[in-house]
Amino acid sequence: MTIINSNLGYPRLGEHREWKHLLEHYWRQQLSADDFHAAAKRLRLANLKKQQALGIDLIPVADNSDYDHVLDTLAAFGAVPTRFGHFDHQLGLDDYYAIARGTDSATAAEMTKWFNINYHYIVPEFDDVHFQLLDNRWLRYYQEAKHELGIDGKPVILGPVSFLKLGKRHGQYLDDAAVAELLPQLLPLYQQVFSELAAAGAQWVQLDEPTLVKATDPAEIAPYQQALTALHGAVPALNIELQTYFDSLDLYDQVIQLPVQAIGLDLVHDHGENLAHLQTTGFPADKILAAGLIDGHNVWASDLATKFDLVQQLRTIVTNDQLWLQPANSLLHVPITTKNEPKADPILLGGLAFADQKLQELATLTTAANQGVAAVQAEFDENQTKLAALNASSHRNNPTVRQAEAHLADQTFERQAPFATRIKLQHDRLHLPLLPTTTIGSFPQSRTVRAKRAAWRHGDLSDAAYQAFLKAETKRWIDYQNEIGLDVLVHGEFERTDMVEYFGQKLTGFYATQNGWVQSYGSRGVRPPVIFGDVAYTEPITVAASVYAQSLTDKPVKGMLTAPLTIINWSFVRDDIPTAQVQNQIALALRQEVQNLEKAGIKIIQVDEPALREGLPLKQRHWQAYLDEAVYSFKITTTGVANETQIHTHMCYSNFADIIDTIKALDADVISIETSRSHGEIISAFEQTGYDQEIGLGVYDIHSPRVPSVAEIEANIQRALRVIDVHQFWINPDCGLKTRQKPETIAALTNMVAARDAIQAQL
Ligand code: GLN
Ligand code: ZN
Repeated sequence: MTIINSNLGYPRLGEHREWKHLLEHYWRQQLSADDFHAAAKRLRLANLKKQQALGIDLIPVADNSDYDHVLDTLAAFGAVPTRFGHFDHQLGLDDYYAIARGTDSATAAEMTKWFNINYHYIVPEFDDVHFQLLDNRWLRYYQEAKHELGIDGKPVILGPVSFLKLGKRHGQYLDDAAVAELLPQLLPLYQQVFSELAAAGAQWVQLDEPTLVKATDPAEIAPYQQALTALHGAVPALNIELQTYFDSLDLYDQVIQLPVQAIGLDLVHDHGENLAHLQTTGFPADKILAAGLIDGHNVWASDLATKFDLVQQLRTIVTNDQLWLQPANSLLHVPITTKNEPKADPILLGGLAFADQKLQELATLTTAANQGVAAVQAEFDENQTKLAALNASSHRNNPTVRQAEAHLADQTFERQAPFATRIKLQHDRLHLPLLPTTTIGSFPQSRTVRAKRAAWRHGDLSDAAYQAFLKAETKRWIDYQNEIGLDVLVHGEFERTDMVEYFGQKLTGFYATQNGWVQSYGSRGVRPPVIFGDVAYTEPITVAASVYAQSLTDKPVKGMLTAPLTIINWSFVRDDIPTAQVQNQIALALRQEVQNLEKAGIKIIQVDEPALREGLPLKQRHWQAYLDEAVYSFKITTTGVANETQIHTHMCYSNFADIIDTIKALDADVISIETSRSHGEIISAFEQTGYDQEIGLGVYDIHSPRVPSVAEIEANIQRALRVIDVHQFWINPDCGLKTRQKPETIAALTNMVAARDAIQAQL
């Protein structure tokens, strides 16, 4: 018997983001629905053909989407929130996009992070839901692949339990009781989908139940058990691959008993636990082990020899006909192909594998497993040569960085004096009023700003002209800030497209991809930088911009940096050394930047850590190590300055009650947190735990162009002052203002200062 391979999902965007442009042209009415569907089909079929050509045996179908797979699921099962209308037939494109994007009369459905991945899904709302099968999209795409290409695909379906658990009712994620109540209503529809697929000749479905990796209590197996028993019982002819990913299964013993024919396990991002289960408990003889071998959310080439050893180990646990080789999760989360990176250093390129290269690796491993390594010796040798070249390269062996790392252990990273002492010195030096006002860092990235940057990048604008433009923009906004009467000013971040890329360009060890796009949400793609080498500080990054801004005003200008963990979380990080080590390298580099800002006369330095919470590991038992490392790298970055220098940090979320100890441990002098949409929650967290340092709870929402009134902002400030001492409190918006326009920005900040003045007058 031979071992086969299987894929779990293929990127949607298209090599040149054709899919993104397709959606956006349709939204701008530059394309009819018919033309949209025809183009989407061409792309879909091309993706299938590509996988076939790469040597994939079981090709996923219906993993394509016109926006998001959770939205597809809710649209197919009729779980459309009633504000978008009532449907008894398949949704048209406009109705489908209304849910994702909103209309004049109905606000868009909420979007949130997909597990711990930088992909965002549409959150189902199960308020007055009446499930009905409006569209068996899985059948449609299964048949299309079969008829058009002769591919007997594996339809990918989000499982009923995960679907429910990812959604909300009355604003809350469904609890077990709500899942138990809704599941029986949904199961007959899944059964219908399954029986129609079986009737059409489908042999396998891939039922994704990623929420299984979050289950820790054996009792939590019940709804999965119920669902799978019902599905397998109703349609025994259709084989179910129960797919899990993003971590290990704590309920391994229960899951392997479920009535399914294959179980997909993540053997990459599982902390070694899934393999340990396989080795100690074994695997049932009547099921297939779908082994997730290839990293599905990072961009590195596998070490084929090591992967092959793993395959050989698995073969001591299961027989050949019980083994499928797979990526560890859908390739949706990696870019498509390294062949569109012609400018990359060949040594780096040799170590990279995007989706297509990963499928190639799978095919090679499958051949090795079936025919012996000799059959693919050339590929194995080339792989070893390339990885060795990258590992031996100067990029990965910077002696200065290695030396600095070696000294980490004999240092402690603490400020010289405790907060109570520091803050007095800072007050004496800064002379700020009570309730000081500031912003979070960025000002509008207007069309002009973006156009100038693009022109400069394409070589149509000289360095000197671009720098002069950036200075003029900063001067303009320093003047506005002075006129508005803010107390602590910022330079405006006009030189940055985002918070990470700019730092990556100035530090060693980063590669900015040309076409390494991944879907973030809807048609939106991001190009995370690739951290492939040792990170070293080579030159000041933000000093000139801050110093220039400070030269224009007597008020203090805040320096503005991104903290190490956020840089890590929003990048593809090398995997030849522990991530924490890379994080510390970044911290050591940024520490020099912080010290250089101080030397250049900058009295306040903000180090942003917006990604701290969203990057929390899926399992709570891994939280502490992650949070400790966040604190450690933040303190490496920020503790090299005098007591008089004020360190700020900023975070973009409000549900922080469970990580408040970490926030305190950062020992920043001032923190600003996004709050305006959930004051109640935050305030009660403070009532419970108290907080000593200074803090700015965002007093207005920056996500909409709406200008908040003075009275509204005053009310927000008053509410915060009930639990936070007036001497501790700062007044600022929720987050940076880069996505806003100038008029609303100035109007809102003017009202913010007026609200502060009104409150000050009453004190
Ligand atoms: N300083 C950044 C800005 O203002 C912070 C952005 C963020 O928190 N995501 O844009
Ligand atoms: Zn923010």
